[in-house]
Amino acid sequence: MEKQHTIGKSVSISGTGLHTGQNGTLTFHPAEINHGIKFRRVDLFGQPIVEAKVKNVVDTSRGTTIAQNGVKVYTVEHIMASLRGSGIDNVLIDLNCEEPPILDGSAKIMMAALKEAGIVEQDAERKCLKITRKITYTHPKVGCELTIEPADKFSIDVKVDYKSGVLNVQEAHMHDISEFETEFAPCRTFVFFQELEMLLAHNLIRGGDLSNAIVFIEKQVSEEDLKRVAGLFHKESVAVHEGGILNNVTLYFDNEPARHKLLDIVGDLTLLGMPVIGKVTAYKPGHFANTEFVKQIAKAMKVAM
Ligand SMILES: [Zn+2]
Repeated sequence: MEKQHTIGKSVSISGTGLHTGQNGTLTFHPAEINHGIKFRRVDLFGQPIVEAKVKNVVDTSRGTTIAQNGVKVYTVEHIMASLRGSGIDNVLIDLNCEEPPILDGSAKIMMAALKEAGIVEQDAERKCLKITRKITYTHPKVGCELTIEPADKFSIDVKVDYKSGVLNVQEAHMHDISEFETEFAPCRTFVFFQELEMLLAHNLIRGGDLSNAIVFIEKQVSEEDLKRVAGLFHKESVAVHEGGILNNVTLYFDNEPARHKLLDIVGDLTLLGMPVIGKVTAYKPGHFANTEFVKQIAKAMKVAM
């Protein structure tokens, strides 16, 4: 029988939000048994709470955004993944702006901070959702499919396919959540060069710099374009490396993008409100599909959202 866990002491992390460019601080506080995972917007009057539950998902266009009574918290997926990966059930997360810091684009820094705060066992049984039948979500237009079926452990198989010369079919497999910290948490978010220009033009990626996203370039890009992008990132110059990857990042794993997609699934699934036990298979996942999948699981398994 597993017990619930929280952290031993409060711990803070500061940095810039990827989309808003806001500089913010995230503080994890210990919380009592059955508290669950909740955000608190300490910059707003009354310090309103936003529960990290799938019913509160309001936008999935560039990340998973939640809101309660009109109070938003953007891009929660990497935080949620770091908590699940650390085995934390109960925590109160203070945030002094709308969007948590993107940090290095992965869950590594948050997991390290949580570890430093200490993972503490609590005197109550952990409630888990054990899947008892196969549940499938499909989005015919996007062609994505997510399935969960009964199993003794939480495992995930992911397959992505961007039909791109630089990023084609890629797979990642997590056999057990114990692999998460070393094999998946360090894997960074990624973006295609063409998307990047669009995001920059629409002011949607203001906090980005060339260390918190892997950038894939599909076609020949002119020196002029590279210079312009370098300028937008406040860098003197950028270059295209082998394999169509921009800038100064070196991949940690050949399949780092697929591993990051797996990280995102772990994060989005945590919005279920309790750890899920079952075997997940995902083809072309994304935040919209992931969160719809979570709603479907909740409905099928009669979990209160
Ligand atoms: Zn992500």
